[in-house]
Amino acid sequence: MIVRYAPALTLAFLCSLRTSLPTHAWLPVVPWGSRRPRQRATPTIPGVPWFPSILTLQTTSTPTTTDAPVLSLFNSKTRAKEPFRPVRADTNVVSMYTCGPTVYDFAHVGNFRAFLTYDVLKRVLRYLGYHVTHVCNLTDVDDKIIQRANEQKIDHVQTLTRRYEQHFRDDLQALNIQPACQYPRATEHIDDMMDLIRVLRDKELAYETPDGSWYFRTQAQPRYGTQLVQLNYQEMAQTERGESDDKEHFADFCLWKAFKTGVDRMDAAWESNDIALGRPGWHLECSAMARHFFGDDTIDLHGGGIDLKFPHHENEIAQSEGATGNVFCNCWFHNGFVNMDNEKMSKSLGNFLTLRGACPTPDDVRAYRYLAVSSQYRQALAFTPQAMTAARNAIARMDKIKNQLEECTRVNGASVVDETTDSELPTVARTALENFEVAICDDLSMPRASAALFSLVKAAEGELKRVNKVSDDEVSLDYTGLRRILDAMKQMDQVFGIFYRVPVSEEEETAQEEALVIPDDVVELVERRTAAKEAKDWELADALRSQVTELGYAVKDVKGEDPIVTQL
Ligand SMILES: [Zn+2]
Repeated sequence: MIVRYAPALTLAFLCSLRTSLPTHAWLPVVPWGSRRPRQRATPTIPGVPWFPSILTLQTTSTPTTTDAPVLSLFNSKTRAKEPFRPVRADTNVVSMYTCGPTVYDFAHVGNFRAFLTYDVLKRVLRYLGYHVTHVCNLTDVDDKIIQRANEQKIDHVQTLTRRYEQHFRDDLQALNIQPACQYPRATEHIDDMMDLIRVLRDKELAYETPDGSWYFRTQAQPRYGTQLVQLNYQEMAQTERGESDDKEHFADFCLWKAFKTGVDRMDAAWESNDIALGRPGWHLECSAMARHFFGDDTIDLHGGGIDLKFPHHENEIAQSEGATGNVFCNCWFHNGFVNMDNEKMSKSLGNFLTLRGACPTPDDVRAYRYLAVSSQYRQALAFTPQAMTAARNAIARMDKIKNQLEECTRVNGASVVDETTDSELPTVARTALENFEVAICDDLSMPRASAALFSLVKAAEGELKRVNKVSDDEVSLDYTGLRRILDAMKQMDQVFGIFYRVPVSEEEETAQEEALVIPDDVVELVERRTAAKEAKDWELADALRSQVTELGYAVKDVKGEDPIVTQL
């Protein structure tokens, strides 16, 4: 097994201290400080009685900026980039609804791009001082769920859905995705869905077919098919297979599916005195749950994968606006696909990888997070071995420099900052942060934000290299400048969320720790060999390598990086 020798040998020498090897390669979660800790006025408690717990969650640290640019987002509804203005600007609260998973299987890497996009947007909003009330639904009743439960001979559908709901939550945690305030299950909001059908029925926007199903009357909604897409009815007429011969118009969509013997199951069916036995349509659940949590008011943001624009989101708009008479959502955001082998990753095409399959190690999980969050969310993302390798290398490089900076500034007094420093590093840090803020506010331009992050990495590497070239007595590190760089990295990580420890089970952790522990005597030999190489004492370096080999370990030099120590 290859084990990267993680601590910075050069730093150990610079700081004249013997660093001990960490038992794992991941970093602890650090409560980031704020570069400019100016607080906005205490947010007014918004009138959202349905969310008492959210307020506690949301009023934690809000690293606001004094001069951050205005956030602009591409709005799928207007097809334009627009300044983001919350509906309830006086409360500083943003309402956000996003479409969640159908919990009958593991979510795949393509699915997680959507959840990572929600996460980046939410983190950006929080970075800018907003309080985000985020609701993400869980679809736990659906054709595929019933089919899977039947195939696996599962007695209760809920046994299947709860299992995959837990896997989904575990995967979100592994990816360091900040949780939504609510993850409502469709099956726990059937009453809300039935109520919505009744409201639509009373407005003559819903009708029942002879079998007991309910449909939305699209032709009674003048703007149907024009909000997020330009529906081509002629084309649709040719391709639409039709869910029921009893529909008034081929574009009408199902709100409620009547129970079909031999297909449906009684543990996934509901009825009331005016709605026949059956189950809700997928589109209905999102409108009903958004209405349950946000009321009839316009919500600020609604997101999902680009493939949800039509029919799902267009249908949500028709239902919600038909029922309330208000604009459903001000700003719609949609993320691009993840492609594998130049094809969209999807379960229906059969070319998909679950997060666990694609990312077997914690480092892989962090690499995927970085790959996804540093991409432009509206573009397709190519999931390739090369892209993952590049992301892994980027993470390793950032971990290394961050560890070095933390060690360095800790050893030399975290609070000692020389304000009179004439080095360029504080300017580099300030400029990088400004560029970062401009980038995140420009429709989440994360590739540019990533470039700003790497400008910090390069500056820090340059400073460590500069001092490493001469003896400690002559030149000392610019600790003030390095501290500024480290603070800026931490500030940016409030959005990137890449410096964290992936949770693992106790057994996995023990196995990993055992695999990564390198005996002290080997560490010492490796350090002495590195020092010998730096002193160009090749003979001694070779002799030390032989001693390492005799102890059962091999040392592999990596240009510009710490050596890799492997067990023979
Ligand atoms: Zn939805």
